[in-house]
Amino acid sequence: MSYHVYVNTRHAARKARVHFSHCSHCNHGEGTQGRPDNEESYWSHRFDTFAAAMAYAQSTDMNVSRCDHCNPI
Ligand SMILES: [Zn+2]
Repeated sequence: MSYHVYVNTRHAARKARVHFSHCSHCNHGEGTQGRPDNEESYWSHRFDTFAAAMAYAQSTDMNVSRCDHCNPI
């Protein structure tokens, strides 16, 4: 299993969401449209463990959550 974090830095959102890399929303860091949905959002690089992905998400100082579609753990 591997993980990616979607970071949305827009002021109204400010979130970092952890996904399994195989999640349809993540698509191995490519996103559903092949790229993030706006220029203030980005996908992290790949993480080998959930703990590493969570640590990265927390380091962004955004509101951390887990994807409710793929339920990474
Ligand atoms: Zn997901």
